[in-house]
Amino acid sequence: MSKYTPMMEQYLGIKADYKDAFLFFRLGDFYEMFFDDAVVAARELEITLTKRDAANDDPIPMCGVPYHAAANYIKNLIEKGYKVAICEQVEDPKQAKGVVRREVVQLITPGTVMESNMLSEKENNYIASLSYFKDGSYVIVYNDLSTGENRIALVSNGWDAVIHELYNQPIKEIVISSKMPPDLQQQLRDKLNVTLSYQDEISFNGEYRSLVDDINDERLVKAFSRLLNYVQHTQKRSLDHLQPAKIIELKQFLKLDMYSKRNLELTETIIKKGKHGSLLWVLDQTVTSMGSRLLKKWIERPLLNKKQIEERLDVVDAFYNGFMERDALREGLKSVYDLERLAGRIAFGNVNGRDLIQLKQSLAKIPDLLSILNQFGSKQIDKVVKEIHSPNQLVELLANSLVENPPISIKDGSLIKDGYNETLDKYRDASRNGKQWIKELELQEKQETKIKSLKIGYNRVFGYYIEVTKANLHLLPEGRYERKQTLTNAERYVTPELKEKEQLILEAEEKSVELEYELFLTIRDQLKAYIPDLQRLAEVVSKIDVLQSFATVSESNNYKRPSFVKDNLSIKNGRHPVVEQVMKNGEFVPNDIFMDKDSDVLLITGPNMSGKSTYMRQLALTVLMGQIGCFVPCEDAALTIFDQIFTRIGAADDLVSGQSTFMVEMLEANHAISNATKNSLILLDEIGRGTSTYDGMALAQAIVEYIHNHIHAKTLFSTHYHELTTLDQSLARLKNIHVRAEEYEGNVVFLHQIKEGAADESYGIHVAKLAELPEKLINRASSILHDFETKDEKKNEVHEDSANQLSFFAEEVPSTRTKTVDRTHESIIVELKKINLFDMTPLDA
Ligand code: ADP
Repeated sequence: MSKYTPMMEQYLGIKADYKDAFLFFRLGDFYEMFFDDAVVAARELEITLTKRDAANDDPIPMCGVPYHAAANYIKNLIEKGYKVAICEQVEDPKQAKGVVRREVVQLITPGTVMESNMLSEKENNYIASLSYFKDGSYVIVYNDLSTGENRIALVSNGWDAVIHELYNQPIKEIVISSKMPPDLQQQLRDKLNVTLSYQDEISFNGEYRSLVDDINDERLVKAFSRLLNYVQHTQKRSLDHLQPAKIIELKQFLKLDMYSKRNLELTETIIKKGKHGSLLWVLDQTVTSMGSRLLKKWIERPLLNKKQIEERLDVVDAFYNGFMERDALREGLKSVYDLERLAGRIAFGNVNGRDLIQLKQSLAKIPDLLSILNQFGSKQIDKVVKEIHSPNQLVELLANSLVENPPISIKDGSLIKDGYNETLDKYRDASRNGKQWIKELELQEKQETKIKSLKIGYNRVFGYYIEVTKANLHLLPEGRYERKQTLTNAERYVTPELKEKEQLILEAEEKSVELEYELFLTIRDQLKAYIPDLQRLAEVVSKIDVLQSFATVSESNNYKRPSFVKDNLSIKNGRHPVVEQVMKNGEFVPNDIFMDKDSDVLLITGPNMSGKSTYMRQLALTVLMGQIGCFVPCEDAALTIFDQIFTRIGAADDLVSGQSTFMVEMLEANHAISNATKNSLILLDEIGRGTSTYDGMALAQAIVEYIHNHIHAKTLFSTHYHELTTLDQSLARLKNIHVRAEEYEGNVVFLHQIKEGAADESYGIHVAKLAELPEKLINRASSILHDFETKDEKKNEVHEDSANQLSFFAEEVPSTRTKTVDRTHESIIVELKKINLFDMTPLDA
């Protein structure tokens, strides 16, 4: 005999299939959780943990949430990365023999939520799948269930490239094979902060095969089916809105590794992890959420193809120049609803009447948008306009069928217009006639009884009734009325004919509500045919929105259209797009940058806080903005198209990765060195500062030399090692530049101006002074520095006659070393001779 009740047995049976999810088990008006689920949920949701069968020796832990408030609890769990299986009663309890049948109707997971309260409007919500193939390649599939988007990328250069690709994408969940090595699984969890799910079956079960019809690579097809099978298994409903899978050719985009995505703060800042302060924040003047989502995608995948870049710039140019029309366009776009997600909800079956009215209004706006776009009078814009096709029959269908202000619920009627369906009209007539009859009856009763305050009312419990105040009861004739309800001041009555009419009215109303629901579902099904049209329209509208956003920011921030040349890079009065925004007007000091085929490496020196890393980031962001088709912050720019950007900047978040700052530095440097080509841009900020001076300096020099001699990538290298500035003598394509600072009355003044040549002082102590360290400490530091400098001078004297140039590995030049040792030896003897041993303590000695 089982020790559990039949219902508990049922619970355990279902739970066995959903081990990695919270099972929300429907019991009356609650979703209940039991055993470990209950213990964890009670903690995570801060709800009371109770016990079932408390009298039993071994009671079952239990907690529950009310059915009507479940959405928020589910949201809470999903946001924490959990999954929730919704288990409903699937038969009428009245008809059930024994325990009511229950089934899981949906598995909600972080990557598959469709509920709008759990989705961020301005961001995609991806679920991805990752598959490994024996030839060493990986395939990543991205799917956004809310929009139906499917994209597939083949990564053939190893595991690290997979992580760099996945990093910083709005992925909530990754579906993998259960056989993936555990250490790789752990990396996915740690580096990407995603929920992992498993799906081992990777073949099509027939349905949705057409989504990959255009794909010939069997690997991609298999990888896609991994994702599809998982989504089908969790969602258990129509996925008709899924779009045919598109291949992302990673080679067609500028490659940004994980470090650069993070260091350059493209879509979120390093420390606060928010959009505010990122490049996206500056560039986002989109007015639709579709546009906002597309902008983010563009920022993460800048283009390489000059023609495509110029095409975008042409449209931005046209929008830029037509500022009056642009205002009108922005206004027009505001009334376009999120067509992409709406298409998803139509397929998924969770649209309501209001959504459809918004859809109708959005579509009705399209002709206006077209005429605004025509007013720009630009060939480039006309080309985009040709891509717009609005499904007009759909507008007609919605206009004929739905009332203007439908309620949120689709089950309570008042959705469908009169004249749309004959039967519905009949029911409505019956109910309206009945109500008219009741109005007339009220009038008639008033006249007959001479009770002015007599009225006919309705409530759910008693139906229609005639109400008479107590003061007037004596005016009622005997026998005609049957008393139904007594109130403090009044009595309520019915008559047989009133009851009869009531019956007719209620029946007609019930039937019409049922019919309206059916009609709504049919309309929704009819809409499914238009899903691809809506998705195509959404695509064009979002593109227009992003391009107008570029024009808008370019105008308000005074950006200039860049041109593209080969091998050269020249920016006049360039600015950092984000830093200039957070500064007061005019405070940001613009700077030029110039690199040609004779200058591959710019070695930047200058005091701390003078603006070295700002200058470097400014270049990277300018390059990136140009390659996504936006104007750039400067007076004039001739840019070169880079294939990759590598950065080693800042160390703000290295602590969390559990690796030492120095290790991270070396990893990032290595990543750049082993992947960069001569068409790449490398930014290395203060390499080597994480280790001892000599180590650091040695590595820094070796890295610069290696890049200069073997890679030929355009490189900006900032350093506080002054010694490196002499490298311009041995490396032909290295140029020194520095950030100017001046000393004024003992304080350093940062001018943030970039000048040619090397800086002469490091100003570290002045910065410490600015930071208001105690005066005593500052004075002490000054005197230590003075000591070092005099010692250095002495050392230099020694080196001078050794004619040998800077090398950090003294071992490599034994001749210098012996000389140094000899001289030092002599001077020590001189010093020692001066000492009076009898004056000293043992410790001094
Ligand atoms: P470094 O890398 O030399 O230590 P940063 O680039 O971090 O210096 O810059 C330090 C601060 O100086 C920045 O936070 C910024 O406020 C300011 N700054 C940098 N560049 C400029 C500039 N061109 N104009 C005005 N202020 C600047």
